[in-house]
Amino acid sequence: MIHLVCPIDRLPLDDNLRCGKGHSYSRRDGTIDFIIGDVKDNDLLDKVAPLYEDIWAPLGFVITARTTYSSVLKEAALFTSGDQFLDVGTGPGKIFDYVRCNECYGLDISFKFLRILRRKRPSVVGVRADARSLPFPDEVFSGVSSMFVLHMLDDPGKAISEISRVMKGDGKCALGLLTKSGFLSNLLSRWWKIDLKTEVFYTGLLEREGLEIVKTKRLGIWSIIMCRKAKA
Ligand SMILES: [Zn+2]
Repeated sequence: MIHLVCPIDRLPLDDNLRCGKGHSYSRRDGTIDFIIGDVKDNDLLDKVAPLYEDIWAPLGFVITARTTYSSVLKEAALFTSGDQFLDVGTGPGKIFDYVRCNECYGLDISFKFLRILRRKRPSVVGVRADARSLPFPDEVFSGVSSMFVLHMLDDPGKAISEISRVMKGDGKCALGLLTKSGFLSNLLSRWWKIDLKTEVFYTGLLEREGLEIVKTKRLGIWSIIMCRKAKA
């Protein structure tokens, strides 16, 4: 078992999810909740959450990438599979249908998505937390994925730094990102209110955080980046 830490100061948590400085977290419906107070979930994603993995994601993906959503998740899962695995921005956790892991963690900010994850994939630990401040100690995961999420953050560099921190030496990562590629990506980024970046911007961030780029692949408006952390 991975011992969770306080996302604010990274002190270890006791059995009641309390850190030495008195920050305290809770369990709700099988999900560990690190968000204190009320954070407004993304309205659009919340509305599509119940339909997301069966309809919205596959359909949107075929249109924008001309390939299937499941084939991309399968490839990312194959690359990152390992003993300890984390999916950041997991949504309903579709990638766990393909990933092989002994300790499996799915992290999201949306409680609605995590409830679906827990119902459909009860072996996965659901964690509600901010991707920019992960409640895990350093170097505990052999694989981390984050598919089609990080481009929505204002500061993706913070999340990438956190992903690198929790990865073991020689650990593997897979990222799926909306990147600049012409008309359709410009249109979608305006609609989703995303500050659109290039693929090179993201590979630069990864390299700065000690992650080596193993492979990049462009699928329509999406960049799929496979990476690896240097051996300790
Ligand atoms: Zn604390």
